[in-house]
Amino acid sequence: MPALPQQSVTVLGSTGSIGVSTLDVLARHPQHYTVFALTARDRIAELAQQCRRFEPRFAVVPEARASELRENLAADGLRTQVLAGVDGLCKVAADPDVDAVMAAIVGAAGLRPTLAAVKAGKKVLLANKESLVMAGPLFMQALAESGAELLPIDSEHNAIFQCLPSPCESLEAAGVEKILLTGSGGPFRCHDPEALHRVTPEEACAHPNWSMGRKISVDSATMMNKGLEFIEACYMFNARPDQIEVVVHPQSIVHSMVQYRDGSLLAQMGNPDMRTPIAHALAFPRRIDSGVAALDLIAQGRLDFEAPDWQRFPCLRLAREAIDVGGSAPAVLNAANEVAVEAFLDGRLSFTSIPGLIERVLKSAAFIELTDLDAVESADREARALAREFLGAA
Ligand code: NAD
Ligand code: MG
Repeated sequence: MPALPQQSVTVLGSTGSIGVSTLDVLARHPQHYTVFALTARDRIAELAQQCRRFEPRFAVVPEARASELRENLAADGLRTQVLAGVDGLCKVAADPDVDAVMAAIVGAAGLRPTLAAVKAGKKVLLANKESLVMAGPLFMQALAESGAELLPIDSEHNAIFQCLPSPCESLEAAGVEKILLTGSGGPFRCHDPEALHRVTPEEACAHPNWSMGRKISVDSATMMNKGLEFIEACYMFNARPDQIEVVVHPQSIVHSMVQYRDGSLLAQMGNPDMRTPIAHALAFPRRIDSGVAALDLIAQGRLDFEAPDWQRFPCLRLAREAIDVGGSAPAVLNAANEVAVEAFLDGRLSFTSIPGLIERVLKSAAFIELTDLDAVESADREARALAREFLGAA
């Protein structure tokens, strides 16, 4: 086993839930990790605070917030250079002095910077599942061409990765029969279906096991998160949809499983805390302390598993259909979902209308081949325009 090397890390989306957990892990190992760049869209004072603590070479914010951050940092005489916009994000993702990039921007906004890191051959720690969902084939091709290393942060994919041989040439060759993708079922697994249309953003964001950003929290409540993860797993592990099964596991202790030809079922378990997959990916193939307490199985007592309720969670079916169609369909699904979730969080769409809006967009959009990044972004744009049009008319 090679010794843990000294690594320079860019954290894209450092003020978010994953970003903060990443900095928590990095801070436990200052002798091994230095922070190269931190980025955020808002919460500039919090980003400035992180810059004071980690003294990155660069900080990146939107154009409109750059002078605010510069002034904030200059007051302390900090030498962190402030860059702006998508170009700034791509620069700190691809800079020759960066070893690892934590891709933790939420949504489609993460696509260009994450791909920049992939193309530059970095060790890419992927939390931003939306980028892989949108551009799966292009993303995986760029990865193969650049020799970048993809390490999953999504706890399920990180668990699957840990249960597979490394490297895993193909699921067939490894003797894998099936991937069991687990999900808690979110806060409304047992909720009265009649009352679901009255659900508020606060209720949807109160996940029973995980503390996360608002967008992924709503995705977990609709189970679109599991749908996106299904697509993510197909691309990441080169799996056919029929090789992946969704299993509802309300306690979120088993993070996913791999079933082998000989009857073995390997599971990765742990307390639901994202610092475990983050530490795993940062140190892979070594192990470092993450700050997460060991799982106490006796205190936990029991683990339950059940089949997902496809009726209650239509988003799961929509995602399953989108990966079957292929091409731009997953990008369309993702874009429509982002518009729907934003509208729900703003009080413009009811919780139960989220899948209906996405389905309408999927039925109206013209699917295209994903030949390049422009094709992905055009599919994304058109799906958003359709979703907004339907919202306006709704
Ligand atoms: P979050 O909302 O807490 O944080 C998002 C971060 O991205 C913030 O730093 C924000 O400033 C930045 N950002 C948002 N929009 C941006 C834009 N347009 N341009 C540049 N930066 C922007 O989100 P999160 O919960 O940390 O999730 C981040 C990603 O990780 C998502 O893709 C999510 O699906 C994935 N993920 C999160 C968890 C979790 O436990 N939170 C688990 C698995 C996967
Ligand atoms: Mg997950």
